[in-house]
Amino acid sequence: MELNIYAYKCKRCGELHYPYKTICKKCGENDHNEFDIVPLPKKGKLLTFTTLYTLPSDYEVVTLALGIVELENGIRITGQLDIKNPKIGMKVNGKVEVVRKDLYKKHLGMIFYKE
Ligand SMILES: [Zn+2]
Repeated sequence: MELNIYAYKCKRCGELHYPYKTICKKCGENDHNEFDIVPLPKKGKLLTFTTLYTLPSDYEVVTLALGIVELENGIRITGQLDIKNPKIGMKVNGKVEVVRKDLYKKHLGMIFYKE
């Protein structure tokens, strides 16, 4: 089964939220947690990136390129880059994978590849 990360869509005004907010940031009236969950799109544009060399031990990799990607619906998400020479503005395709594990939980994240 394909994994997904979900955004929360306000049932009153349609505004998308990621990560989850308890009150809608647009209409501000949604105080009853009335959100639909919708999967995030996997395609986007690389806005910026950085490479990390010192990671907590629960990461599955030694070095990590992290990018901020603007997805097709305008939501910005931080994800790992599996791209040799990333360039700002390039189009990327994401895939949701388990990026981090601890005792209690598997953490899903998006890994981006060159389109
Ligand atoms: Zn709303």
